[in-house]
Amino acid sequence: MKEFNDVEKVIDETVQGAATMIAQEEGKNQNGKKLYLESYGCQMNFSDSEIVASILSENGFTTTRDSSSADVILMNTCSIRENAEQRVRNKLSQYQKRKKEKPSLVIGILGCMAERLKKDLLEQEKLVDLVAGPDAYRDLPKLIQEVESGQKAVNVLLSREETYADISPVRLGKGGIAAFISIMRGCDNMCSFCVVPFTRGRERSRDPKSIVQEAQELFDQGYREVTLLGQNVDSYKWNITKKGEIIDPSEPVVNFAQLMEMVAQVNPLLRIRFSTSHPKDMTDDVLHTMAKYENLCKYIHLPVQSGNTDVLKRMNRGYSREWYMNRIEAIKRIMPDCAISTDIIAGFCGETEEEHQDTLSLMKEVGYEFAYMFYYSERPKTLAERKFEDDIPLETKKRRLTEIQAVQAELSHAANSKMLGEKCTILVEGTSKRSDDEVFGRNSQNVVVIVPKNNLKPGDYADVIITDCTTATLRGELIQTEEA
Ligand code: SF4
Repeated sequence: MKEFNDVEKVIDETVQGAATMIAQEEGKNQNGKKLYLESYGCQMNFSDSEIVASILSENGFTTTRDSSSADVILMNTCSIRENAEQRVRNKLSQYQKRKKEKPSLVIGILGCMAERLKKDLLEQEKLVDLVAGPDAYRDLPKLIQEVESGQKAVNVLLSREETYADISPVRLGKGGIAAFISIMRGCDNMCSFCVVPFTRGRERSRDPKSIVQEAQELFDQGYREVTLLGQNVDSYKWNITKKGEIIDPSEPVVNFAQLMEMVAQVNPLLRIRFSTSHPKDMTDDVLHTMAKYENLCKYIHLPVQSGNTDVLKRMNRGYSREWYMNRIEAIKRIMPDCAISTDIIAGFCGETEEEHQDTLSLMKEVGYEFAYMFYYSERPKTLAERKFEDDIPLETKKRRLTEIQAVQAELSHAANSKMLGEKCTILVEGTSKRSDDEVFGRNSQNVVVIVPKNNLKPGDYADVIITDCTTATLRGELIQTEEA
């Protein structure tokens, strides 16, 4: 699943603001308790924090931006790499003083780290009172009460049904233009390096009607973009078992391509993105459906992880370099203007220099617009930890990662340079960080474009011509504006 470090900050700020606002407006019967909620890691965690904020505001909690005035502090955590967990432990230690000043303060750990470590976390981190896994958020009000009655509280039960489909998330994203919609939870793939199947459980898809309804509600609230979220959206399927048995004959069977079409038909002014795809499951149907609707954005995040088939085998990714390139060829054939990004792991167990070179050559062959690149971080209890030795020296991992990043910087710049003089339509999201006289938005290919403000405002679509570029962003001039 896509993850970026700067997300933490953004979530941190918005979670507090938005949830507080909601509670006061609806005049919910407050229990006078203040919640401070911060999140780490991927978009799915961000989306889960919106569920948590909703469940607790339903139970009378108001949220605060200021952790020092909080009665309850919840950290929604990530376990994808060792340093992600270390970041949480470091932040926890900052609450030591606060806990001394206010012994009744409740500190809770949510998310993947909670699920991975379970009650051991209470041993390891004495400050922690509450541990709740990704499928236990409905239980939070009761768990907080248990702590307030003097006990430690843990719920790390994983579910085969839970999708929180009936809970309307408290929207925490900035600007009120783009929002996440979680379409499924869990992952049945067992990539050997990954903790997600252990921390988020088995795959289960959400009722398509509730997804379409959420998209419609967001559009009616002024949102103009939704991102459909799942660990592996291509294996979304409703009303049919893994063995192909129809669950309820009175209901339609819905796969990912069909779900996308249903959401695309909500309104042509609502843009749709999705994350994350899986090369072994991505069908031509999905690609043809994307090509059919202008509001299905022409951008696919297709993690490759390695460019060498033997490494992919050790990673248990379920496809070869040839299969992956076949998917890339299909994307370029069906949607020539589709942008592609990926995830890459450098220095996986046993990776030879030749195998590393295969990753560099594949990157150049695909010509990625963007990539998330990390070196291998061994995770406890994963297949790789049990079967392989983490035998690539750290400096070799770092050197290979640097080479991968250098290739990607060239590819990103080349891709953006190709846009010079091109026309595209952006969805304005807000004022540029650098100048109040400029706004930023993204084109269908998910590239940020900065243009002069004119009288543009968030939610407007604007046709622009690209006049300049860097590795990460594009600059343009307005051709015409359309009121949303
Ligand atoms: S597809 Fe693989 S890498 Fe992605 S969440 Fe599932 S197990 Fe992890």
